[in-house]
Amino acid sequence: MNSPIVTIVVPCYNEESVLQETISQLCGLMRGLVDENVVSGQSKILFVDDGSKDQTWKIIYKETINNEYVRGLKLSRNAGHQNALLAGLFTAKEASDCVISIDADLQDDIQVIPEFIRKFNEGCEIVYGVRQKRDLDSFFKRTSATGFYKLMNKMGVNLVYNHADFRLMSKRAIMELERFDETNLFLRGIVPLIGFKTDSVYYDRKERLAGETKYPFKKMVAFALDGITSFSVTPIRLVLWLGCLSFFISLLFGSYFLWLKFYGQTETGWTSLITSIWLIGGLQLIAVGLIGEYIGKIYNESKRRPKYIVDLDLFNPLDLKKREQ
Ligand code: UDP
Ligand code: MG
Repeated sequence: MNSPIVTIVVPCYNEESVLQETISQLCGLMRGLVDENVVSGQSKILFVDDGSKDQTWKIIYKETINNEYVRGLKLSRNAGHQNALLAGLFTAKEASDCVISIDADLQDDIQVIPEFIRKFNEGCEIVYGVRQKRDLDSFFKRTSATGFYKLMNKMGVNLVYNHADFRLMSKRAIMELERFDETNLFLRGIVPLIGFKTDSVYYDRKERLAGETKYPFKKMVAFALDGITSFSVTPIRLVLWLGCLSFFISLLFGSYFLWLKFYGQTETGWTSLITSIWLIGGLQLIAVGLIGEYIGKIYNESKRRPKYIVDLDLFNPLDLKKREQ
């Protein structure tokens, strides 16, 4: 079998302090893989400059001239990590058999990349890099990340636990990814929806080589909120349940207060007041929740996600030929 053309996509935002080292390590790896015939000589490393304000693009540009493996893509402005990644994937897919995405700070272990490719050769369309140990991440980052995965799973979103954006995707998987039409693409949630044969590769996460995290607390919360609201209408449904609960309580309390009025002692006017507060509150919440259900439907429709993704089409002569091989 021919060795596959692999493109490594690296989104970069203000990474001047680490980029040169990243380039040299990734190129070293690539050279080795080409020499050993693990990947094709046409394989490349595509650095996506996500509207950096420092020397990042200059470094990339210079390297594209001098280095046969390095390619660059410059975005018009800071589009955010996920969009920069998408830009890289979609640009690279035409000329690649598969694409591997990795962060610029080398926190993910590039030594497992050959294993990614081995799994791809075995027929996997998607391979996830999964962090085994995170003791080097700060306590806060670790606990907030674990909490996030748990919360997402509770809300019905299937995330690969401890997997960030270090993954391999085949050309075919990327083409299917392109059919997810929504503007707010949360890759970690979307990629598992593509399906096909997938596998994971385990590695230990390291410390950032240099520079600062580009995900300060505020961005992390926005990222988590985006993740939840892009995948789940559970928060809206909670309002409906809250309304039902309040309505139920109003019935209970109402009867108790009525009992008090006739058989105990109360202030004048208090019974009707307190009962109607609970009753109206409950009814209002139910109404808001119901409207929310409809908005949720509209929201899901507006995403225009593909309804299915075909794995093997035995109606189509092209796929038939593939199966015979
Ligand atoms: N990044 C990007 N655009 C942004 C923010 C981050 O392309 O707006 C890139 C960044 O250069 C890095 C990757 O996304 O390659 C992950 O960011 P970072 O390492 O800062 O996140 P952390 O590992 O701290 O979660
Ligand atoms: Mg990082």
